[in-house]
Amino acid sequence: MNVILLGPPGAGKGTQARKIVDSYDYEYISTGDMLRKEVQSESELGQIAKSYMNNGDLVPDKYIIEMIVTSLGDLDSKNLIDGFPRNISQAESLDKKLIENKQEISLVLHMYVEDKELISRLSNRAVCVSCQTPYKLKFPDEINEITCINSYCDNSSIKIREDDNPESVARRISVYKEDTFPVVNYYKDLDVNLVDINAHRPEDEIFQEISKFLEV
Ligand SMILES: [Zn+2]
Repeated sequence: MNVILLGPPGAGKGTQARKIVDSYDYEYISTGDMLRKEVQSESELGQIAKSYMNNGDLVPDKYIIEMIVTSLGDLDSKNLIDGFPRNISQAESLDKKLIENKQEISLVLHMYVEDKELISRLSNRAVCVSCQTPYKLKFPDEINEITCINSYCDNSSIKIREDDNPESVARRISVYKEDTFPVVNYYKDLDVNLVDINAHRPEDEIFQEISKFLEV
């Protein structure tokens, strides 16, 4: 079962992804992690990717898609794809490659939250330096007092992400609306099983709803 997780920055995708992967044994496929792994292992794709990154260029979609599809395994395996596709062109190329490899998207989870809430979440947020779990700051000094609650992080400190400043938050939300949100309708038109998840709720409640749609 291949599941795609879509949603704007601040919707809580990372938190839900972690719950899905931990509770139901899904393989977590994020393009950032995948690129790092391929480059580290010096695989053929990793070397190609590295040559682009060394020049300060983005790795072309076709290589990213190749990596994603390769890591899916067979149709019986359970995968969660986070952070891809980010636009229609990537969605189309991914589809083509999936068909070639006799693979398919089984489910798209679309998490939605209104802009006002996203802006408030992202502007008062810090993340664990190790696991990226977000923490809401009630006042700025709290950043020195809070440490990560996850046992595997061993009290890691939290920091504000560079792109969580107001200008960059506004830009990320508008990029999402212009480029990524159309992907939601693209999948609806293709008759891919897509569910809209109201993500302006407590995270356990969201996870309970998501769980109803997953193969567990
Ligand atoms: Zn942590």
